[in-house]
Amino acid sequence: MANLRTWTFISLCVCGALALSLSGSPARADEKADLEHISRIRKLSDTDNTEALKQLEYLKQKQLSKSTPKVRLEALKVMVSLYYDAGRIQSALNSIAELKTLAESEHDQDGAAIARIMESYALIDDGKPDDALKNLSQISAGLHTSASAEVRMRLQSAFGSAYYITGNFAASLQHYLEALRLTDELTTRKVENRMYKLDAIAKLYTNMKDPEKALATIDEAFSLSPLSHSPKTAASLNISQGIALSALHRNEEAGEAYKRALKLATEAGLASMAVTSLINISDHYLIMNQYKQAENYARQALKQAEVLKDKQSIAVARVNIGFALAGQGKISQGVELINEVVQYFLDADQKPDAEAVLGEQAAMYERAGMFKEALQTVRHQQKLSNELFRSDRAKAVAALQEQFHAQQRQKQIELLAKENDLKDADIRNHRQQQIITILAAILTVLVGAFLFLLYRRVKRINLQLREANSQLEFHAVRDPLTGLYNRRSFLDMMKTRIAQAEAERRDAQENNPDCLILLDIDHFKQINDGLGHAIGDAVLMEVAHRLRKAVRDSDMVLRWGGEEFLVFSPKSSPFQSAGLVERLLQAVGTEPVMAGDKEIQVTVTAGFISLPFSDVPESVFGWEKVLQIADMALYLGKANGRNRAYGISHLLVPSDRALPVLETDLSTAVANGMVELIEVSGPPKLDLSVSKAAESHTGMQ
Ligand code: GH3
Ligand code: MG
Ligand code: MG
Repeated sequence: MANLRTWTFISLCVCGALALSLSGSPARADEKADLEHISRIRKLSDTDNTEALKQLEYLKQKQLSKSTPKVRLEALKVMVSLYYDAGRIQSALNSIAELKTLAESEHDQDGAAIARIMESYALIDDGKPDDALKNLSQISAGLHTSASAEVRMRLQSAFGSAYYITGNFAASLQHYLEALRLTDELTTRKVENRMYKLDAIAKLYTNMKDPEKALATIDEAFSLSPLSHSPKTAASLNISQGIALSALHRNEEAGEAYKRALKLATEAGLASMAVTSLINISDHYLIMNQYKQAENYARQALKQAEVLKDKQSIAVARVNIGFALAGQGKISQGVELINEVVQYFLDADQKPDAEAVLGEQAAMYERAGMFKEALQTVRHQQKLSNELFRSDRAKAVAALQEQFHAQQRQKQIELLAKENDLKDADIRNHRQQQIITILAAILTVLVGAFLFLLYRRVKRINLQLREANSQLEFHAVRDPLTGLYNRRSFLDMMKTRIAQAEAERRDAQENNPDCLILLDIDHFKQINDGLGHAIGDAVLMEVAHRLRKAVRDSDMVLRWGGEEFLVFSPKSSPFQSAGLVERLLQAVGTEPVMAGDKEIQVTVTAGFISLPFSDVPESVFGWEKVLQIADMALYLGKANGRNRAYGISHLLVPSDRALPVLETDLSTAVANGMVELIEVSGPPKLDLSVSKAAESHTGMQ
């Protein structure tokens, strides 16, 4: 019986397909608000029919008497649908009557047509499909040319249902297809209506013994479900799916589908759908030969169908109870029920229903070994089947199926075209993105290269600057000719000397002073004059080099001016210093200096002294004064024959007495025994022909 429990919810679906026409002349503000309110209730009914119905009844009672006819008509249309879904058939019929009266008095042709279409459904449900068809033909003939898509779609659906129930599948399919086409013209609830039509067509396919196609159609309907959240549609589709699956003997899956439908229907307060689900579950158990379960579900269905006064469901539930009883061995009791229902179907001209019941009855007789009854029943069934599937009708069905496929193909082509457009757009997008990415990459590379060049340039400039700076620094502290520290660097050092020296002295265990050695090249003027200025420069450089080589790393050699040098030797006692001075004299004068192609002996005369001098604090006797004494010692050396050095080691008398004399006249201080003088001799004279020549020329000794 699974393939026959269909019309009730088809009618529900069609009744459910109410669209709100909000277009037209500018509505009054509250009319618009009321229509929106009704629309919200209709939406709510998709998930909670009971609550939606409560709200709509309340609205109708409290407000709608003051509303415009348009609002009242709309409310009634929705109300019919909600009553049907709730299984309150009498209330639905009352609302249809109310809708009809109001529409006619308001000369609302669409409203009146819809009311009459609804009446036709009521006739189908009442077992009078032929009357319904007559009624529908009248509506069709009288339909205004400007009738809305909604009205035309409803009319086609109603035709489909009426033909379906009488077994005229070809005509049914034709009308359903037309209804499906018309959903495209709807302005509201397009998706919902499309899903309902596909659902009806799927059920038709199962009845036309093509359950595979039915499943494909259901899948198509399910694919639309993300666009419309409606438990009602989902429940209905699950039932259709179960029926098709059952026809394919996929019984377990079918049972699951029905149970899903029952759950959805119960949760959303859809009483009629719940009854249909229960009947289908009982069918499922009959097929599985689980007769107790089958009887159980069928009795639940019967009870609820009786509450709803749903004749069709009552009949089907009773048939199922009949088969369940027969299955449990209560054959005569079962057959009685079955025969009653078959008669009901035949009286109501519901041939497919009657044919299906007879088929199952024959099988039941066979199982019970009642072959005579089985044969009789099969014959009866065959007769009906022939009527239902006459060859010309089969051909017409085939043609219609082709039409449906063509329509579906067209739809698919349109979808594909849309998909292609989307893909094209996507590809374009992708390409643009690629171009942008490439441009961005190029730009990044260019900017990167530019930044790199800039960085290199800045780095180069920085390097040049650093070089220039270090050059400047170098030149600020170095003598350009010899590369030695210059006088300025010594002055800078001496600026910070006092504080530093005092601090260091406090820390130091041994109290070695620093040593200052002032040196002057002997007869340098003569070298310049005799050999040229360039040779003079070369000699200066060589002397500088020799001096630097002779000192410790910690010692500092400076070009003090002209051909004078200063050696600053930290932490060096006067006696250590004497050794250093001797090394210096030897270093300069022992080896001849190459002057162009000639060799000359260059000697220096030096004066040296400690700083601080003889424990006299520098704050009292500073470096300038100390150096002045060294200078005097140097000149003492010049005076005493050059190529030698004199050092003033320390005071022999108290400083306050010695220093004033020493500052002005070293010779007197020495003569008066105020200071101790150290003498250092230079290297012996070299036997150089050039030197001699230079000597004779310059008068060097
Ligand atoms: P003494 O032994 O008494 O020191 O005799 P001297 O000739 O060395 O003394 P004097 O001070 O009279 O001569 C120094 C000369 O050094 C004078 C100057 O022209 C020369 N002089 C100074 N600076 C430079 C320089 O940078 N290069 C060269 N070639 N000569 C210089
Ligand atoms: Mg000089
Ligand atoms: Mg000199």
